[in-house]
Amino acid sequence: MTAKDYLNYVVKEIHTTIVATVDDAGLPVTAAIDMMDSDDNSLYFLTARGKSFYDRLKNREFLALTAMKGENTMSSVAVSIRGKVRELGNEKIPMLFEKNPYMRNIYPTEDSMQALTVFQIYEGTGEWFDLSKKPIERDSFVFGGAERNEGCYFITDKCIGCGSCASVCPQNCIITNNIPYTIEREHCLHCGNCLTVCPVSAVERR
Ligand code: SF4
Ligand code: SF4
Repeated sequence: MTAKDYLNYVVKEIHTTIVATVDDAGLPVTAAIDMMDSDDNSLYFLTARGKSFYDRLKNREFLALTAMKGENTMSSVAVSIRGKVRELGNEKIPMLFEKNPYMRNIYPTEDSMQALTVFQIYEGTGEWFDLSKKPIERDSFVFGGAERNEGCYFITDKCIGCGSCASVCPQNCIITNNIPYTIEREHCLHCGNCLTVCPVSAVERR
């Protein structure tokens, strides 16, 4: 899936996300926020100017969110995103209300809608984590020109093929056909077991 697909998945398949911002004291605050539209490189959401959430967005112009879908842990898909936000004003509000008609139940009149303003997450990084697959499926993406900065576990040429890492890998995602062994990154849990047990420090977290 592309970044556009992941952003669209958040809007269409999950919609209500948990968003973290930072308050004046530098402490985290979470809020449930609906993601109302997406395009190739952005997510769009609304808030009211009177909310403290609005102040936190304006102060830092940055957020992190997690969107989760599933009936329980082992059927869940999670998309986590962190990125830059900017206020766009009210021009897009009619379009967002058209796409999200339930908003009329919360802000029923044109006058009441005056409190609202649109924000765009326009540059960021994301991670897809699907626990419903066996082995688990992981992917990362960037949008809006952000730099890719995901860490991953990697086996270097120091590997002597002892097998210790494969024996403790909870996802069986270490390929042992050749030395050095290799890690299937798309299935790696980032648990760190392989790094801990390796007797020759052949595993690195990059
Ligand atoms: S970090 Fe954990 S899941 Fe990933 S390869 Fe190492 S042991 Fe396996
Ligand atoms: S534990 Fe280290 S040396 Fe042993 S197979 Fe794994 S990476 Fe190679």
